[in-house]
Amino acid sequence: MTPAPGARRPLVTRTRRSGKRAKPDPNRAWARRLERTRPGFVEFVLEGLADLYGTPTYERRNDPTSELVLTILAQNSADINAEAAFESLRRRYPFASSAAAADGPAPDSPPPGWGGVGIRPGDPPDWMAVELAPVEDLADAIRPGGLHNLKAPRIQSALRIIREARGDHSLEFLGDLEPTAALAFLTAIPGIGVKTASIVLLFCFDIPYMPVDRHVERVSKRLGLVPAKASPDDAHVIFGHLLAPDRVFEAHVNLITHGRRICHSQRPEHERCPLVDRCRFVHPKAF
Ligand code: SF4
Repeated sequence: MTPAPGARRPLVTRTRRSGKRAKPDPNRAWARRLERTRPGFVEFVLEGLADLYGTPTYERRNDPTSELVLTILAQNSADINAEAAFESLRRRYPFASSAAAADGPAPDSPPPGWGGVGIRPGDPPDWMAVELAPVEDLADAIRPGGLHNLKAPRIQSALRIIREARGDHSLEFLGDLEPTAALAFLTAIPGIGVKTASIVLLFCFDIPYMPVDRHVERVSKRLGLVPAKASPDDAHVIFGHLLAPDRVFEAHVNLITHGRRICHSQRPEHERCPLVDRCRFVHPKAF
């Protein structure tokens, strides 16, 4: 269960019925042990990355429904291909008043934490047309993103669930919910896991849930921020304990950037890395 951002929960709780001690929360226990055995390590990582890449500040990049669909398109696909699929979606199912919206120039610089160039400004696709399209047509429209036969029904199902729950396809209401309720709404949609939901909440509402993608997972495991065997969902919970809410956006963006530029999956460039002295991948007993 994901803790609400900034929430402090007891390490050991008592069950209501028996009064017996419940099992300790292993993710919380890990975070406490890290703070005890490697004091200042989280701050060391954040500061080292900020010196190298700057301190990214939150800025909304897309409306939340577009962000959700774009993130589905990016599941197991390169961000740049997901963008191409999204632009194709806009051309195939244009919003009635803005048929040429997707023909504008690409943004000047890629959005933080994103591996593509950013989608062009303009209206989102006509979500009702996307939801009701023959699934083969939709799959053809998003073909540039890859895994189109899997993602077309996933997108239509998500849009249908949102519309049936809310009356339209807008997800702006998530910003008015408690963070745990917003996460629960999104993760109840088939095909939407904690990572995808956290991306929508962090990048559209600045709700400090940590999305753990493959770069964040690799870098944080090498450093020893999270256990080597932690699942991405466990790592997400551990970050919720390790990070102050106002550092989550920065941590997410800079860990991704570090994974892309220096801490590659093959041949990481330790000699260029400001974190090398305390990295467990290089020094297994680093404090
Ligand atoms: S020292 Fe090497 S393995 Fe450790 S974070 Fe830096 S690049 Fe990655």
